[in-house]
This record gives sequence, C-alpha cells and structure tokens, in this order.
Amino acid sequence: MRNIVLFGPPGAGKGTQSSKLISKYQLIHLSTGDLLRSEISAGTALGLEAKGLMDKGLLVPDEVVIGMIAAKLDANTNAAGFIFDGFPRTHAQAAALDALLEEKHTNIQVMLSLEVSNEELMKRLLLRGKDSGRADDQNPEIIGKRIEEYNAKTKPVAAYYQAQGKLKNIPGMGSVDEIFDALCIAING
Ligand code: AMP
Repeated sequence: MRNIVLFGPPGAGKGTQSSKLISKYQLIHLSTGDLLRSEISAGTALGLEAKGLMDKGLLVPDEVVIGMIAAKLDANTNAAGFIFDGFPRTHAQAAALDALLEEKHTNIQVMLSLEVSNEELMKRLLLRGKDSGRADDQNPEIIGKRIEEYNAKTKPVAAYYQAQGKLKNIPGMGSVDEIFDALCIAING
C-alpha cells in the first residue's frame, strides 16, 4: 500500500494537489476537514460540536478525527493506498495513525510537506473564501488563529516523521503543475 501524508499550513495547496495525486496514483483521499464539513452539512451532533471550534479556527478534539479516520480505513480495506490531507494535525493523531496502520500491516511511506510563506497563505485563503464561501476562509482573524494553531500544534508533527526518515520538504510557491511534478518526484524517489 502507498500511504502518503500531505502536510502544510492552511492554504498550502493540499486539497488541490491531493486531487491530482489521487488520480495519478489511484489513492483514496482522506481529508478530515472535508469529513467534518460533511458532518456539518448532514446536521449530526458531531458536526454541530465541530462547527463551533472550526468557526473559531481551533482544532477539533483528537478522538473525533481519529475516530473518523479509523472508520474510513475500515471501510476501504482493498485500497491501493491513502492520501491523508489535513491529518495528522497533532502528535497524538500521528501516533494513533501509526497504530491504526500497523493493525492493517501497513505504514506511512512519506510525509510531503508543502512550504508556503505566511503572506501568501493569507492571500490564498481570502481568495478561496470568496470562491468557496467557507466561513473560516473569509475572516483574517480566524485565518490568523488557524495559522497560530498550525504553528503551535501541527508544525511539530513534521519532526515526528523526520525522526522516522520520512519527511520531504517541497516548495509550495510555484505553479500547480510545478509543485505537482516535485511531489511526484518525491513519491517515486
Ligand atoms: P481543513 O479543511 O483541513 O483546513 O480543516 C478545517 C478545520 O477543520 C480546521 O481549522 C479544524 O478546525 C478542523 N480540522 C480538520 N482536520 C483536523 C484535524 N486533523 N484535527 C483537528 N481539527 C481538524
């Protein structure tokens, strides 16, 4: 199985690159942000609880996202592999993911970390907010909070994979195709 963590701050291009990677490598896309937004649209209790935190730019509790990922892994036992987008976002999530994959006799092949400057992130997210209508992309204060959460809780997750020799840093500032090519080279190499 080819399991890839696509890592980087909000607005780094994880969603855009994930859709290109899943079609090239026949992977299943697991985005905890998308899964949470589906729960919100469906009006579930979980969605309602998550919305309050997401609207403030805060992370949802580890147990909630780990549970969602566990269910998706169980539901796709014949997959060629998974691309994890926006997960893991904390050290506890990374450790839980390793344990879940080990149960299935597989592991993470590589973490691809997209590197983008803070000014560029703010610009991209405000633009995306206009197009997508996502509430958490429309307010500079909430975007700032999400970047703060990323720096405090999520950025350290890169060290977890670096310690396993699995971290690859990819510049996330060129054209979509240039970045995609760099990601493919990192996956194949
Ligand atoms: P995203 O679509 O990945 O930008 O996620 C949108 C929001 O969903 C984040 O700002 C968090 O509030 C929440 N979220 C998504 N994935 C996670 C995760 N792995 N852990 C905690 N919160 C998450």
